Amino acid sequence: MKKHIAVIAGDGIGPDIINEAVQTLEKVASLYGHEFEFEYLLAGGASIDEYGVPLTDETLERARSADSVLLGAVGGPKWDKMEGKLRPEKALLGLRSGLGLFCNLRPALMYKALEDASPLKSSIIGDGIDIMIVRELTGGIYFGEKTLASDSSWASDLMKYSVEEIDRIARKAFDAAMKRRRKVTSVDKANVLETSRLWRKVVTEVAKDYPEVELNHMYVDNAAMQLVRNPMQFDVIVTENMFGDILSDEASMITGSIGMLSSASLGSGRRGMYEPIHGSAPDIAGKDIANPIATILSAASMLRYSFDMDAEAEAIENAVEDVINAGWRTFDIARDGEGHIGTKEMGEKIREMMK
Ligand code: NAD
Repeated sequence: MKKHIAVIAGDGIGPDIINEAVQTLEKVASLYGHEFEFEYLLAGGASIDEYGVPLTDETLERARSADSVLLGAVGGPKWDKMEGKLRPEKALLGLRSGLGLFCNLRPALMYKALEDASPLKSSIIGDGIDIMIVRELTGGIYFGEKTLASDSSWASDLMKYSVEEIDRIARKAFDAAMKRRRKVTSVDKANVLETSRLWRKVVTEVAKDYPEVELNHMYVDNAAMQLVRNPMQFDVIVTENMFGDILSDEASMITGSIGMLSSASLGSGRRGMYEPIHGSAPDIAGKDIANPIATILSAASMLRYSFDMDAEAEAIENAVEDVINAGWRTFDIARDGEGHIGTKEMGEKIREMMK
């Protein structure tokens, strides 16, 4: 069946890396007999230049009518002086809330061949790191009531979660685990927080619907420690918004390479928004040197989570691993003095490697 994909290249290196991801999806289409229709939309700085705002209602509507959204990155010095709601990053918030995306999937994946880039010792890394962090994206303390006393002598932020909000994110985590190694670690602070005690209760309840998945609970302070002490123990980590914000950055840093990591934001339906975790890297835009792998892996996640095309997603992921194992590197993952290839050539090598 034909899939309609909204493609938002954005700014900076966005067009360079998106181009490689789209071509990789075209390769999947030809290998597996699928039909992908790409609709190109503007958001971020590119949209400000064209329409005066980072995200138009029309663009959001077009994204909503797509089966999924693939995004490069937005922002850059050209728009740094814009005020609040006219900043390019507002496009991301507008898309996430407009598409009802409450779940953020952040894989922290490190290939053995790139272990030099990790700040961790090789004895800790073992065969490589492969963790999926599932972060609740639209609730918790970031969205609770905010108060600042009139004399500024105190302030508060309300942390609130409903059963429904916990239930739906827990299901996303267990669904992800079913496609992986079938283990979920739920991270909370149930020894102190009431919201965490409810979180633990609801997650435990949801686990009953997934008897094949092993569940354990961990306090967030311990989880932060375990991520650097023994990251191989984790498969899927599910946690609330703020804990997830912090732990997903920690997990991505231990892999050592920002140009390699993808992310997915999901809602209650099949549609998601898929993007690299890095920004628009204006310092290297348009030079054919950006690493396209994070965006290509984001496209693979789209196949897996929005279109249920697991074999196709794996074909891309395996090709990336094969290319890395064969020694091909963009400059950001090359060792000092080692040769490297450009954005387009990296994309081509991956497509050549796909079976
Ligand atoms: P950044 O991620 O763009 O860049 C940080 C460093 O990593 C830079 O040295 C950059 O060259 C390098 N880098 C990033 N992606 C790379 C890749 N694919 N290959 C090789 N090197 C890569 O973060 P920043 O410099 O803090 O932000 C630049 C702009 O991006 C800002 O306008 C910021 O607001 C925006 N931003 C956008 C997003 C997004 O669209 N999701 C996320 C973060 C930052």
